[in-house]
Amino acid sequence: MVYNPAMRKKLIAGNWKLNNNSLQTGDLIRKIIALTAGISGVDVVVAPVFPFLHAAREAIGSSGIELAAQDVFWEEKGAFTGEVAPSMLADIGCRWAIIGHSERRQYFGETDETVNKKTKAAIKAGVRPIVCVGETLAERESGATEKVIEKQLEGGFRDISEFPMTVIAYEPVWAIGTGKNATSQQAQDVHAFIRGWLKAKRGSDVADVVRILYGGSMKSSNAAELLACPDVDGGLIGGASLIAEDFSAIIRLSVGK
Ligand code: PEP
Repeated sequence: MVYNPAMRKKLIAGNWKLNNNSLQTGDLIRKIIALTAGISGVDVVVAPVFPFLHAAREAIGSSGIELAAQDVFWEEKGAFTGEVAPSMLADIGCRWAIIGHSERRQYFGETDETVNKKTKAAIKAGVRPIVCVGETLAERESGATEKVIEKQLEGGFRDISEFPMTVIAYEPVWAIGTGKNATSQQAQDVHAFIRGWLKAKRGSDVADVVRILYGGSMKSSNAAELLACPDVDGGLIGGASLIAEDFSAIIRLSVGK
């Protein structure tokens, strides 16, 4: 299949982490809707905390913004205090889940194995996973970036064939929340590596349609350059997604507005 970037619609996702109360969640969404009025050709996803998914859904209305959870569990039901099943997300209209974010790997013991279980369970319930991979600064400096990414991909996607459901987010750990983004060349190199991995494992038809997002200090001042890379299909954005003006500017830039 001939490479055709038009096949991959840009996706701009906001990871709101542990921020905002219910009123702020609704207000932020309403502001983003107002600031992006008339913009089309891009998928927009926001990930508030679990308790405010409902408030977010009400604020979203018919705007076309979609909801993501920041995590999900792999079991459907049972004695798993504190967990949330993929079907419960689907039940309230939450069609996406971020899985394997580096903060979950660092603070909550997430492993490639749990990423794999969560990803499989999400796909089964019709919830689209945004699977995060990325190297630490020490790993980059020792030249291990590709090895680390490959290990995370191999483990996270073991026995998974429903790739078109899936989005991969390349998030170098050293760029998350630090204000120091990867250069567009660094991002493109890793994105091309991930696409090459997809092609080797699943063939060009799959590799050409799976969207690979960049995450790590993306903001309105650097988004245009990063989003112009041929293998960067959007952004997973933390800090800047909490500011309606900044997040909306990135959405506009993703479609050249
Ligand atoms: C993130 O946490 O996914 C992220 C990319 O954060 P930030 O944009 O703040 O670096």
